[in-house]
Amino acid sequence: MKLYTLTKRFTFEAAHELPRHDGKCRRLHGHSWVMVVAVAGSRLHSSGPKSGMLMDYADLSAAVKPLVESHLDHHYLNETTGLINPTSEELARWVHERLRPELPDLAWVEIQETCTSSCRYQLPEKRGGK
Ligand SMILES: [Zn+2]
Repeated sequence: MKLYTLTKRFTFEAAHELPRHDGKCRRLHGHSWVMVVAVAGSRLHSSGPKSGMLMDYADLSAAVKPLVESHLDHHYLNETTGLINPTSEELARWVHERLRPELPDLAWVEIQETCTSSCRYQLPEKRGGK
């Protein structure tokens, strides 16, 4: 268990369709998506301009925004992600996989498809992590 978890919230407008669904989500439609990205750790920077921080929120933002711009915001997610059936679950995993190399302390990614529906993707914690 990590001592600190930082989250940053991103929003994007995007269309998708779930061709395997048996209801209205099968049709092409859009959402105002909310994505929350969390990094976690137990050791804070002890000196310098990031003293007292696990990670600078600006650095977290800088790591995530390029992906939002290039693949998510005002995009057709079935096309830009290559996911055949881009549910919240698939999208959360897809984002997590892409952010892991950028964010070594990445904890989880939450995708909110509507105001009342969301999915959080998180890998099991490794033993002996910092
Ligand atoms: Zn939808």
